[in-house]
Amino acid sequence: QLLSSRGKGLGIGRATALALARCGAKVTAVTRTQADLSSLVQECASIIPVCVDLADWGATEAALLDVGPIDLLVNNAAYASLQPFLEVTPDQFDESFSVNVKAVLHVSQIVARGMKATGSGGAIVNVSSQASQCALRDHTVYCATKGALDMMTKVMALELGPHQIRVNSVNPTVVMTDMGRLGWSDPDKAETMLSRIPLGRFAEVEDVVNTILFLLSDKSNMTSGVTLLVDGGFLAC
Ligand code: NDP
Repeated sequence: QLLSSRGKGLGIGRATALALARCGAKVTAVTRTQADLSSLVQECASIIPVCVDLADWGATEAALLDVGPIDLLVNNAAYASLQPFLEVTPDQFDESFSVNVKAVLHVSQIVARGMKATGSGGAIVNVSSQASQCALRDHTVYCATKGALDMMTKVMALELGPHQIRVNSVNPTVVMTDMGRLGWSDPDKAETMLSRIPLGRFAEVEDVVNTILFLLSDKSNMTSGVTLLVDGGFLAC
């Protein structure tokens, strides 16, 4: 396994890494902050840490050279910075796309090449968002990256399917991680969003992790190319 994680707080990547390790998987966790990896390994000594900035194509290639063979991949790392449409800068655009889309392409290429070579197939889950399918104020670039990611998931499913590699995305509503707090800690904003979610709550980290585990597992053996909402019904309305 290979996934991006977070060592402090309740990030989705960290919780996914720990859940997979509890299932008995050999987990490699990739993120760019060493302190986060150290605390993760302190909590679960079997996890192999890899510290790299996924936006750096060359460094990522080098860091992942000795990792493998890999059966399961979760592309979780993402960058969010919010600004009104008219104030979006080229830097924010480039940083977001380089992590949320380009790094997913790159890491998936590395892993899928390995899966193809061993002929054993595999499963890839891209962590997307409800923001891929719904306009959210101040989220121009983030929404655009997640829309691109959903489409990339489908083309990956198309091209990697013949190698028995399934590719799906999980698309959560707000989760109160560090990233969730960035957009939704204002009580008025949170209430507006909550009022549009039929189940009346944000997603818990565990809700997302469970869906990731399902899409990685044999329980979803015939599922590929889907964007699986974990949104409490938000996009049904
Ligand atoms: P966090 O901010 O807690 O986690 C994001 C992780 O990505 C951090 O560990 C961060 O490291 C890492 N990361 C960012 N940029 C890079 C990079 N260049 N190289 C390596 N690692 C990097 O957010 P969440 O756990 O909430 O987000 C996880 C996923 O869930 C993301 O894809 C997000 O878009 C998605 N999501 C989140 C929602 C929410 O409301 N929280 C809702 C819907 C989807 P560092 O801290 O060092 O920057």
